[in-house]
Amino acid sequence: MKKIIKFFLRNIPRRYLQKVVYFATNCIKIFYLGNRVECSVCGKHYRKFLPYGYVNSRENALCPNCLALERHRLLWLYLKEKTNIFSSNLSFLHIAPELCFISRFRNQKNIQYTTADLESPWADVHLNVENMPLKTESYDFIMANHILEHVDNLDKALSEIYRVLKKEGFAILLSPINPKRDITYEDKTITDPLEREKHFGQKDHVREFGTDYAKRITQEGVEVIEERFIESLSRERILRFALANPDKLTIENHIFVVRKLN
Ligand SMILES: [Zn+2]
Repeated sequence: MKKIIKFFLRNIPRRYLQKVVYFATNCIKIFYLGNRVECSVCGKHYRKFLPYGYVNSRENALCPNCLALERHRLLWLYLKEKTNIFSSNLSFLHIAPELCFISRFRNQKNIQYTTADLESPWADVHLNVENMPLKTESYDFIMANHILEHVDNLDKALSEIYRVLKKEGFAILLSPINPKRDITYEDKTITDPLEREKHFGQKDHVREFGTDYAKRITQEGVEVIEERFIESLSRERILRFALANPDKLTIENHIFVVRKLN
């Protein structure tokens, strides 16, 4: 199973990947029937989740029904329990939208929902996050997960995201972080995909964030809050939803929330 998933991850173009994996996992989920783990996003339960990962595959990670990973299940709980996005009327810009979330956000009557991506055929708007054709201060909530490690000009991408965010709004920006690295590692001279994989962990990554992530994504006029929401959850819930190894929580299990300063 690990090998099949790795093959998909490495050989199918990124923009089609989610749909192809979606089809494949739906064919095999019968082998995962059970009730030891539960997906907080789609509500289905299984014996365990599927393994997932580009380089080092992780056990018990991917929901065979909706494709949510550990971080999606955690984020979903956080959004439901700690934010107003399912109750207030708000405009939401979802950059590089995750398939497990799209229909769920779209079906929320209180959300004016826009998906945006550089190339995904399923996005409402095609845009480059470094230069977005969107009005200043036009969204109450912006979410952009696992894209900042791909963008050429990080500061430009961030200033664009913060520009279109409303004054009272908030953004969630998650990225892979190497907990062993203090300072974010970036080297623009490394352009060869294999070299990038060696240095930054994946062929299309241009940097590897370290524990300075909150500082690195802070710009003038905003504050970044590092939410340790997972630490408030019981061990049973962390295991039930397979959110992380409760004995080895790291900065990667934190949720980074950005608010504008007045
Ligand atoms: Zn699910």
